[in-house]
Amino acid sequence: MNLILLGPPGAGKGTQAKRIEESRGLVQLSTGDMLRAAVAAGTEIGKRAKEVMERGELVSDDIVIGIISERIDQPDCARGFILDGFPRTLAQAAALDDLLAAKGRTLDVVIEMKVDDEALIERITGRFTCAECGEGYHDTFKRPQVEGKCDKCGSTEFSRRADDNAETVRARLMAYYRETAPLIGYYFCKGTLRSIDGMADIDDVTRQIEEVLTDIARAA
Ligand code: ADP
Ligand code: ADP
Ligand code: ZN
Repeated sequence: MNLILLGPPGAGKGTQAKRIEESRGLVQLSTGDMLRAAVAAGTEIGKRAKEVMERGELVSDDIVIGIISERIDQPDCARGFILDGFPRTLAQAAALDDLLAAKGRTLDVVIEMKVDDEALIERITGRFTCAECGEGYHDTFKRPQVEGKCDKCGSTEFSRRADDNAETVRARLMAYYRETAPLIGYYFCKGTLRSIDGMADIDDVTRQIEEVLTDIARAA
């Protein structure tokens, strides 16, 4: 099964993608994670993306389309993938349609995660991750069970993203409304859109997504 988690920054895409990855044996493909890895490694793509990401703007379509096209061909994606943070523009969505068609693959469902704007800002400014395993946390909504220690791997090192600050959040939300929100209409018209309440607590959101996936699998 191949799906897209669609929603604004902070909607909970990464949190839920990791859970579905485990429950359904799919691979999470996060263009944000891939770009941050490229920046950290200092690759040519990383150099081109770094400042754009720090400003909260979108990196160019050709960069992310290239990254995704290559990644989908890897053997671990054969069983299916969860796109998290891609596509983000109508041009990316059209390119995805073309490249899936060329590879003889299909998109099963696009799950829109609806979250209030005020909540997004709070979610992003409180977000941090385990520096060792990447498990996601939140200052208020998801603290480690033992203070200062990762639930998953026991590491005591955590990190915060350079772009997760109050100033950049607004630029990122603006980019979302200008460039990405039109995808909701795009996928509605194609008949692949399903919407869920992303304001519910983390476990409840997972349940809603699992329901959609079960439904889609049954219909297939
Ligand atoms: P995205 O990948 O869409 O940008 P994340 O999954 O990183 O979003 O979630 C953003 C922040 O909000 C994280 O700190 C995460 O722990 C927290 N979070 C995710 N889902 C929920 C939820 N349903 N309720 C409250 N906080 C949440
Ligand atoms: P979030 O889900 O919190 O918005 P991401 O990790 O998905 O954050 O993305 C971080 C940054 O990486 C974005 O602000 C943007 O600069 C860049 N980026 C990630 N995915 C894309 C994409 N598909 N197209 C353009 N830029 C992207
Ligand atoms: Zn960890």
